[in-house]
Amino acid sequence: MAHSPNGKRLKGSLSTSPVRRHSLSLRSLGLACVLAVGWLLAFSPSAEADQGFRRWLNELWPEAQKLGVSRSTFSAAFRDITPNRSLPNLLSSNKKKRKKSDQAEFAKPPKSYISERYINSLAIRGQKLSRRWDKTLDVIEANMGVNRSVLLAIWGRETVYGSYKLKHNAIRSIATQAYLGERKDYFRDQLLKALLILEEGHVTRSQMRSSWAGAMGLTQFMPSNYYDHAVDFDGDGKRNIWTSVPDALASTAKSLLDNGWQPGKTWGYEVRPPANFDCSLEGIPNARPLHEWVRLGFARSHGRSFRPNRLNDEAFLVIPEGTHGPAFLALKNYLVIKSYNYADLYVLFVGHLADRIAGGGKFEARWATDNPMRRSDVKDLQQRLNKMGFDVGKVDGRAGMATRVGIGTFQKANGLVTDCFPSRRVLKDLRRASRRQTLN
Ligand code: CA
Repeated sequence: MAHSPNGKRLKGSLSTSPVRRHSLSLRSLGLACVLAVGWLLAFSPSAEADQGFRRWLNELWPEAQKLGVSRSTFSAAFRDITPNRSLPNLLSSNKKKRKKSDQAEFAKPPKSYISERYINSLAIRGQKLSRRWDKTLDVIEANMGVNRSVLLAIWGRETVYGSYKLKHNAIRSIATQAYLGERKDYFRDQLLKALLILEEGHVTRSQMRSSWAGAMGLTQFMPSNYYDHAVDFDGDGKRNIWTSVPDALASTAKSLLDNGWQPGKTWGYEVRPPANFDCSLEGIPNARPLHEWVRLGFARSHGRSFRPNRLNDEAFLVIPEGTHGPAFLALKNYLVIKSYNYADLYVLFVGHLADRIAGGGKFEARWATDNPMRRSDVKDLQQRLNKMGFDVGKVDGRAGMATRVGIGTFQKANGLVTDCFPSRRVLKDLRRASRRQTLN
């Protein structure tokens, strides 16, 4: 479920596969030609590659059998299935041809990912669906303590409340990633779990739709997440997250609960930081009770105040655009939503959308960035910070909390304007500082 339906940006249809192109051209030819071309195809590189896939399936079979998958389920699952070579994140001998994915919440600038127009339309639909599924949501809230608006927000973010049609056959996508992808072991495990789902009859192969990366159903569960958390809520004996809204919403609630959801609490608050606040206070290591943040001069946005009985809640600062954009104080449930999707922008989107569905207003502060740094530049920046002893962790080209804190700490230590935000200027300052370090 770490994947929102950003498969939108990626073409993964059969029409791009070489085999299909061959078969289309065959229709215009006579029988003799069909036979001749068929004979040639049998010895073409792609047919050979598919034989490789069949051999790989033969090796997979004993593992599936050990888990309880029957031969008939196994054969039916892979009938007519070939690897989908147009998927992203596959290993290819030709590096230039490799198609890389990046999730929207990492690839898009915050300003376009967190689009007011989009959030507003999702909020309006979410409110309607809240009324439509009122009784179901009442029971889920009563049994699991997860607020309805968060469940609706995840459903809205993941598949636009089911109106986004998942383009891929889950078995084919996951098998392709397990056979040809960059994370073979992970997807092999997912594939075995997906086969078990078919074995248990929760869904048919044709109903088992997913994103290109195998995230399935209305609220986008990977097969292992399905196994850990999915529930049958409408009582038909099937855990059907593809077409049963009660099953999908209750499974999402169960997943959040299993990951530590604190009933009755919110995810976090948009806040107004005091003037010239220390932006390097961002992140979990600097968590402190809300009353401490209030003492430091942080206030809730839109002139609201924190409820007195919440002031002891531990909160940490999140500022995705450093001092340039909105600021948030995040609670434990923020981290629980992160278990669904690790990107901070995803969590803020879902949290804010949940508030909007519940009747809350827009962001108070403006999102500033519409032209973020290139990943390669962020990597350069991270490498330099690490080398200079400002530990920003993994060099991944994504400017998360640790990177922003590292930038802020570097800026403070060098008497620079401190904005905790990656930019060309910071990169220049870092280059200059590392030259100085070398000279000394
Ligand atoms: Ca069910």
